[in-house]
Amino acid sequence: MASVADTRLYELLGVSPTANEGDLKKAYRKLAKEYHPDKNPDAGDKFKEISFAYEVLSNPEKRDLYDRHGEKGLREGGGGPGMDDIFSHIFGGGLFGGFMGGGGGRGGHPGAGRRRRGEDMMHPLKVSLEDLYNGKTTKLQLSKNVICSGCSGKGGKAGAVEVCSSCKGRGIRVMVRQLAPGMVQQMQTMCHDCHGEGQVINERDRCKACEGKKVVKEVKILEVHVDKGMRHGQKIAFRGEGDQAPDLEPGDIVLVLQEKDHEVFQRDGNDLHMMKKIGLAEALCGVRFTLAHLDGRQILVTYPPGNVIQPGCIRGIVGEGMPHYRNPFEKGNLYIKFDVEFPDKNWIDGEKLELLEKLLPERPTLPRPTSGEFEEVDLHELEATRGGAGGGAGGPGGRREAYEDGSDDEGGYQQGPGVQCAHQ
Ligand SMILES: [Zn+2]
Ligand SMILES: [Zn+2]
Repeated sequence: MASVADTRLYELLGVSPTANEGDLKKAYRKLAKEYHPDKNPDAGDKFKEISFAYEVLSNPEKRDLYDRHGEKGLREGGGGPGMDDIFSHIFGGGLFGGFMGGGGGRGGHPGAGRRRRGEDMMHPLKVSLEDLYNGKTTKLQLSKNVICSGCSGKGGKAGAVEVCSSCKGRGIRVMVRQLAPGMVQQMQTMCHDCHGEGQVINERDRCKACEGKKVVKEVKILEVHVDKGMRHGQKIAFRGEGDQAPDLEPGDIVLVLQEKDHEVFQRDGNDLHMMKKIGLAEALCGVRFTLAHLDGRQILVTYPPGNVIQPGCIRGIVGEGMPHYRNPFEKGNLYIKFDVEFPDKNWIDGEKLELLEKLLPERPTLPRPTSGEFEEVDLHELEATRGGAGGGAGGPGGRREAYEDGSDDEGGYQQGPGVQCAHQ
């Protein structure tokens, strides 16, 4: 597979493939200054490229690999520690961090994902609406892997850990199959002698504390601050608190807030909503009722006489909603939807009813019949009226469907009373 050497990385630095270490360094320094993102923000990729080129060419092993196999060779060698090291050094804060005064931490640059990093561990955290209103500090206990202190994550005594001779520490073995003269196929398989670790530890020298696993379980207690106004689905991250492993930057522990349903209030962003049942007297003559708020305050809600509350209408209280996140003195609104309960049948005797009627707004007068006389009919308490807004969800719809079926199948279906009523 020895192909003609690739020269792109040399060209990036503007040096010849025979350049020595000093030439490379000089060329790189000059270009790095010129293309550094601080000075030349539009040339961000260019800077990464020249940094990469220098990383490769300034390392004799990597330069050799590149000279012999080009960039493809670097990538294929990347199954083991080689390529990841290059990337983590370039993108993970090594070079960038140095240039930027340590500001180039993780996640700060596009491409940072190439760094070998443990997975983030997501945990749901159930919180009540009260917790989100008042804020809360809670402790969370979890068990995680940490580097074994007995062997500093080496798995055994100094010198006991040997590079696997079968795979030369790469953890993978490359099999080359000849398919036809001049045509070969390369296959990578995990090394069985070291189970892909690239290292083997002599049984006797194995660390007793971790049994050679390099990590041990540890119980960790995290203090979680749920801030006022936080929302369902909001994440609280603990940077680098994920499982530790040798040569791995630990991931984060991420708590995802799960807002529990509340008996009284429903939340909509910074606003709260609730239902309130009131009687007819309150609907017509003014409302006064008390309410226990999420912080334990008892608030007295009043709507003075003279105001009327129609069934299903919504009224609001300014500033009694949820506190804004990071600005908790600002609060949303509380909206109350009123359900007006009407009295039952015969709740009052006839005489009083007449008195009441005199107090209520006047009823409309009947128009004259346009032809002769009115035909008088009675109203009944029929369960479902067609299209009636007050019926149950299944009621009117079901009837309509039945009615449509009935018209297809002549006389085969008995129409319900509601349908007949609607026809008259
Ligand atoms: Zn150990
Ligand atoms: Zn091996």
